[in-house]
Amino acid sequence: MTLQEADRSHGMFYPALVLNADYQPLSYYPLSLWSWQQAIKAVFLERVQVVCEYDQLVHSARMALRLPSVIALKDYVSPPRRAAFTRFNVFLRDGFCCQYCGSDEELTFDHVIPRSRGGRTEWTNVAAACSPCNLKKANRTPREAGMRLRAKPHEPTPHELHNLGRKFPPNFLHDSWLDYLYWDAELEP
Ligand SMILES: [Zn+2]
Repeated sequence: MTLQEADRSHGMFYPALVLNADYQPLSYYPLSLWSWQQAIKAVFLERVQVVCEYDQLVHSARMALRLPSVIALKDYVSPPRRAAFTRFNVFLRDGFCCQYCGSDEELTFDHVIPRSRGGRTEWTNVAAACSPCNLKKANRTPREAGMRLRAKPHEPTPHELHNLGRKFPPNFLHDSWLDYLYWDAELEP
């Protein structure tokens, strides 16, 4: 493969799994992956160590090199102290399930105390809810609507979200990644 051909593979064809300096993945979900271009650049800048390689070679005019499949940062990146309050992280906290009926379809966000009643958009007042439950609850509190939350919304720690991410292995996993990843799913019979 030449660099030009590799370029046409849109970068994510040979993604590199990115590990922290302690050889733990930076993130499970989404899995921390870099395109081969980002990975090669970081290798040249000596920011990462190559842990495993693909068989795939890329050739430039002067040399050939194997694309890295697993890289580790040389400098340890401390995890953030607080989990970012994002739509994705709220869904992740709630296991991608409606917090009223458990459905995993048509997920939206519910303000437990409705916004019109002073409810704020924050970890402790927002929960994943399917569209039908959201419509049914409307402008009421769960108690008024006679609906029960499965869990009281809380602010998760970054560690908690990291562990929750382990429940969602991506569709594509290269063999060389498996020594560095640990999926909860593997524990199920
Ligand atoms: Zn629901």
